[in-house]
Amino acid sequence: MKRLLIILLAVMAIVYSMPLLTVGLGGGGEDRTKEPGGAELVDGEGTFDEKTTITLWDEGQVKTLCLRDYLCGVVAAEMPASFPEEALKAQALAARTYTMYQLSLYEGGMAIPERHSGAQLCSDHTHCKAFCDIEADGESMWGANRDFYTDKIRQAVDDTCGIIATYEGKPIAAVFHSVSSEMTESSVSVWGSERPYLVSVESPGGEQAPRYKGQVVISEEEFKGKMLAAHPEMDFSESSDKWFKASNRSEAGGVIDVSVGGVRVSGTWLRGQLGLNSTNFTYTPKDGMLYFDTTGYGHGVGMSQYGAKAMAEEGKTYDEIIKWYYTGVDLTIKS
Ligand SMILES: [Zn+2]
Repeated sequence: MKRLLIILLAVMAIVYSMPLLTVGLGGGGEDRTKEPGGAELVDGEGTFDEKTTITLWDEGQVKTLCLRDYLCGVVAAEMPASFPEEALKAQALAARTYTMYQLSLYEGGMAIPERHSGAQLCSDHTHCKAFCDIEADGESMWGANRDFYTDKIRQAVDDTCGIIATYEGKPIAAVFHSVSSEMTESSVSVWGSERPYLVSVESPGGEQAPRYKGQVVISEEEFKGKMLAAHPEMDFSESSDKWFKASNRSEAGGVIDVSVGGVRVSGTWLRGQLGLNSTNFTYTPKDGMLYFDTTGYGHGVGMSQYGAKAMAEEGKTYDEIIKWYYTGVDLTIKS
């Protein structure tokens, strides 16, 4: 059950997290805890991942973790441990980069979100990144393979120790998602904010992903109820085949915005309202029901996890995967 819950949380994180939302300045004033092995963390010693600490709001308490342990927990929660090593390394690098990006926002003066209870990050999949404690949860996640997968994830984190993706010298918002359509989405198409490194690129591996194609079926009445609750001015007096008009799609196929009942709304908003797997959807009314068929799973911006898997299986290395999905970035080693 716990395993299912963890998997579900990870999936929810991929689907619903809004990674460009910003978070605030972390206090970081907690006493350091012991590493699982029992060694005290000491300022200034060890690798970048060992000596960098973060505070995490998780399971009702503020935890202080070294970056290494945090990243192992994020990789385990965000990507199947059975994926190829190079894909796991790319995931570790993306997670490290995103963490440093979040911390850089605090340095820029942003306040801690209230929901973090003073911590820099949280493990709420709808807000920051999914996280699981691989020491405590490894057995429930992986059973007899616990040691194998724990070592595999640690290796992926350690093999990329201190490496982050940067653009013009700054850590990037290294967002990722489960699987895109044949192309990833740009950040401007999905969130309206332009990032030069988050542009649309071709992405392989869709056919391999279990949720590449999806469908949501909803009655006309329920649909109208949801829409009118947010936009009472919407007009559904025409037949249901005329409710959606003039959709504006991205190069990758995602709905940027569309007129629904005469009101223009974003594809991302609709996706959230209807629980669609992605903004890349078609709409078919039939017999009082509305069928929304989706391609891809997640917001579609940045690295596709199934794309990373496919590239790794083609022999690409983690740095090639990262530079493919994040256009124009450099890899910078922090020490
Ligand atoms: Zn958070």
